[in-house]
Amino acid sequence: MRFSRMLIPTTKETPNDAVLTSHILLLRAGFIQSIGSGLYNFLPLGKITLDKVRQIVKEELDKAGCNEVHLPIVTPITLWEETGRADKFGKELLRFKDRHENNFVLSPTNEEAMVNLVRQTVKSYKQLPLNVYQINWKFRDEVRPRFGLMRGREFLMKDAYSFHATTEDMEREFALMEETYKKIFTRLGLAFRVVEADSGAIGGAGSKEFMVLADSGEDTIMVCDACDFGANVEVLSEDEKVCPKCGGGLSQTKGIEAGHIFQLGTVYSEPMKAEFLDEDQKLKPFVMGTYGIGVSRLLAGIIEQNHDENGCVWTKESAPFLVDIIVAKAKNEEQMAAAEKLYAELQSKGVDVLLDDRADKKTGFGVKIKDFELIGIPYAVVIGNDVSEGKVEFITRDGLQKESLSTENLVEQILEKLA
Ligand SMILES: [Zn+2]
Repeated sequence: MRFSRMLIPTTKETPNDAVLTSHILLLRAGFIQSIGSGLYNFLPLGKITLDKVRQIVKEELDKAGCNEVHLPIVTPITLWEETGRADKFGKELLRFKDRHENNFVLSPTNEEAMVNLVRQTVKSYKQLPLNVYQINWKFRDEVRPRFGLMRGREFLMKDAYSFHATTEDMEREFALMEETYKKIFTRLGLAFRVVEADSGAIGGAGSKEFMVLADSGEDTIMVCDACDFGANVEVLSEDEKVCPKCGGGLSQTKGIEAGHIFQLGTVYSEPMKAEFLDEDQKLKPFVMGTYGIGVSRLLAGIIEQNHDENGCVWTKESAPFLVDIIVAKAKNEEQMAAAEKLYAELQSKGVDVLLDDRADKKTGFGVKIKDFELIGIPYAVVIGNDVSEGKVEFITRDGLQKESLSTENLVEQILEKLA
């Protein structure tokens, strides 16, 4: 893509109501735009990034044998009445009527709708196990939406639900999902911990949270210095000093909850009479698990963990572009020709590359560098006056190290640095 043709409204000003770093930076770098309390437009950079994160989540779930479906975000309230959650959920559940006076909700989560889908289609143990998921917009009418994508009212969530004949098989799937989530967070380039969690409002037996480590995190977690054990302070007191798993030392840190997996059992299938015929020809309720990832929230989490005083520092897999080619003087024919050549060559190698070809008077070299740093593209290649001597500058966004590269074999040198 060419910067001159893209809608990227970067700004120096810190928006009034924003206090959290990711909220400020995503607005300032032109990823998102506020449209109302807890509601955001995703601008081109935001949409590209959201799609990249979504794709990684989808690829790993599909590899684990999950089935992607798509449910309407409007759900008849009658389904929520079957489990009693229409009353329990409170005001976060946005309710409304259609023209025929039928009651609906804007889905904040989809256990009921997914159980309804499966009870109509799965009748026998032979069709089990089954893991069904969607990556779809959810709505929660938060009292005080704040922190941008961290706690918006509308958010993109991956919600998966698994159905089993036995508890043992559900536990097997729960472990598989834990491994799958680890792969997703690792691919995204995140430092994270899996922690034992309180099951909270969803109910059920065991649950684990996936915490993106960041000083600004809302959750306090206890982590072991010796093994991978971690626990939310809701389940393990802050006074605890010894790891229950290995006896190592515990220390306290902050995390952002970006994923949560639950062993549900039959808390939804029983009241909704979602049953299958077992081997012994008896009707039994499905044993369930449920697994969520806050996809739009992850964008905020990535930035909370990866930023500096100049702006965002996206990880390679999440970044909207991997390389920014900055033409110092876009009106200079030699510079522009060298940039166009590199742009075409990197594209032909499958690299996501942005060409900052802006040639208007207001957009000098300094503005382009500032935008590169604010947006947080992992690498930049600066094509300036030195190009006539066969040299360009290569910048790594994380740490802002600069080095001079020869224009000979330039693509090969760059590809080596990206690997
Ligand atoms: Zn330990």
